[in-house]
Amino acid sequence: MPDMRRKLIAGNWKMYKTPQEAMQLVKALKIKLTDIRKTDVVVCPPFIDIAAVRDILKDSKITVGAQNMYLQKFGAFTGEISAPMIKDAGCEWVIIGHSERRQYFHETDESVNQKIKFAVAEGLRPIVCIGETLEQRQSGETANVITRQFTGAFKAIDATEFGKVVIAYEPVWAIGTGKNATAQEAEDVHKHIRSLIVQHYGQTLANATVILYGGSVKPENAQSLLSCPNIDGALVGGASLDAEQFIAIVRTAENLN
Ligand code: PEP
Repeated sequence: MPDMRRKLIAGNWKMYKTPQEAMQLVKALKIKLTDIRKTDVVVCPPFIDIAAVRDILKDSKITVGAQNMYLQKFGAFTGEISAPMIKDAGCEWVIIGHSERRQYFHETDESVNQKIKFAVAEGLRPIVCIGETLEQRQSGETANVITRQFTGAFKAIDATEFGKVVIAYEPVWAIGTGKNATAQEAEDVHKHIRSLIVQHYGQTLANATVILYGGSVKPENAQSLLSCPNIDGALVGGASLDAEQFIAIVRTAENLN
């Protein structure tokens, strides 16, 4: 029942954009996306940009997310940022378990699981990333990897908590490489993820859960990916740094609805 779900387009800016650059980008998005009605739009800037971005977007429908958070509420954890801080800074969303965090900062399914709990307890909506490496895909392991990451991430997460979650399927080999999954490859995995949700949380929640595709989404491939019945939107990295490209992807989603 894909028509139950609104499309969601989220931009992951990674470690790009100074506060000045961030303000320029969101000013352009705010002006040019005033007519968007059927698509939810989220930007996830670096922590240092969040306050400035929030101020510019406060009277728009574009919402703000963080790219990561620590798995404690507060404490002597120099350099870290917690869920209450993110929430108080004006974020509604937080990306959890992005493959770059898993690869470079040793995030595990266990830490992802703990972060989801802290995020939801604080009223944030987690965008939880899962996806296989090229090696795992080539050895036919994709479904097993997705099942393992899903089960680990949502261990002891109850249905109420899960109801706040958005899942992003991001094949690691497609992130920042310019090589996107085909619509069919992505749809197959999204279908598998939805079947895991049915298994763990039931059909109603599975129908309502938004599952994003991420991995080299561009204006040129957005239409074919976003037209798939189980692809409810996109987590966009590189193309979200350019106002025109990000706007074109949002408009593609809006026109499909
Ligand atoms: C991402 O950072 O989540 C991502 C999908 O990046 P890109 O669109 O650049 O592949």
